[in-house]
Amino acid sequence: MKVDCLVVGAGFAGAVCAERLAASGRSVLVIDRRNHIGGNAHDRPDAHGILVHPYGPHIFHTNAERIFAYLSRFTDWRFYEHRVLASVDGRLLPIPINRTTINGLYGWALDEAGIRAHLDAVRVPIDPIRTSEDAVLASVGTDLCDRFFRGYTRKQWGLDLADLSASVAARIPTRTGDDDRYFTDRFQFMPAAGYTRLFEAMLASPRITVRLATDFFQVRDAIAWDHLIFTGPLDGFYGHRYGRLPYRSLRFEHEHLAGIETFQPVGQVNYPNDHAFTRITEFKHLTGQQAAGTSIMREYPCADGEPFYPVPRPENEALAQRYRKLAAAETRVSFVGRLAEYRYYNMDQVVGAALKTVADLGA
Ligand code: FAD
Ligand code: UDP
Repeated sequence: MKVDCLVVGAGFAGAVCAERLAASGRSVLVIDRRNHIGGNAHDRPDAHGILVHPYGPHIFHTNAERIFAYLSRFTDWRFYEHRVLASVDGRLLPIPINRTTINGLYGWALDEAGIRAHLDAVRVPIDPIRTSEDAVLASVGTDLCDRFFRGYTRKQWGLDLADLSASVAARIPTRTGDDDRYFTDRFQFMPAAGYTRLFEAMLASPRITVRLATDFFQVRDAIAWDHLIFTGPLDGFYGHRYGRLPYRSLRFEHEHLAGIETFQPVGQVNYPNDHAFTRITEFKHLTGQQAAGTSIMREYPCADGEPFYPVPRPENEALAQRYRKLAAAETRVSFVGRLAEYRYYNMDQVVGAALKTVADLGA
């Protein structure tokens, strides 16, 4: 078989590249080793008809109008602002930490200036900020760090806050006011009919062929291509020749609760200190679906299993850099996405990276 472009992976990175390359007139074959499109953003109805995200809760948010406009060609949207509560000392308190969190935790009634003064008093002056521990201590001090961040991080990564780059915990801001949204981006929406429908629309061109349950390493010699877009793990492409890049995995435990309208007050509740799981997602909040029962999912982080997260820390970054050097020397292969670039990208960042990759190829 001969195509202009072979795209390995039908997640956001692969689907955006395929869509753009096909629009520029190329024939494209998309393969994925899973039996569905959408990568980790895939969604589907469970056995009870509730639309769930089998690979973890996916909430679309971006500040980039260009990326929002691009995706809007393939889907209508449902306005949704994500809110997350953390279960701490038997209370459900907003995370990111805000005025409500601090007043609720300590039984205070401080105004915004009072919260600012409190945080100024407890912040640990650290300069430069290198680790996630530095980042959290420098913004909320020891007590809030221990109650909201230390345990969650240990579960999520199997590492202490001090062993992760600052960028990980820096994803979570600290607020002195009452804004309890998880994200403050300009565009926060869910695809109205779900992510899988969005991917179907992206891959609908007659110039695109999709082959599922197909592993690149099994079929690479049977397909001829002018250009390859690879969105799988970067180290795997090179046979792990410099050693393995660590990727963190997750085990998902689904539960359907018949006859219960809602299980929890918001889409996501985090459990920083109790249980082996990090968080519970209740999908109906995310999708707005009306149904008699509800479906929830617990996430158990683990070292082995499918790769989901790069693990941002200096030694991993150094190893990734060595692989990126090999990748940069390729003339007929592009590497794009969370696994192939070894970057802790959100969906919009993957879309942005993919659009740039294909623009460089003239698409
Ligand atoms: P993937 O979606 O991982 O797609 C790569 C595809 O390549 C996979 O389908 C894989 O099967 C395939 N593949 C790999 N190797 C091979 C091979 N050898 N042969 C064939 N196919 C192969 N982002 C947000 O913006 N908001 C969120 O709320 C959010 N929540 C998340 C929650 C969780 C639990 C996780 C893990 C991620 C979350 N993300 C979120 C990030 C988001 O999932 C990613 O940014 C995005 O989906 C990555 O797209 P991708 O195409 O790079 O990778
Ligand atoms: N985090 C935490 N407590 C929380 C939420 C997040 O300690 O209640 C830390 C933890 O290290 C986590 C990181 O912040 O891995 C990033 O959180 P985010 O919600 O962005 O993670 P993701 O949704 O990507 O898994």
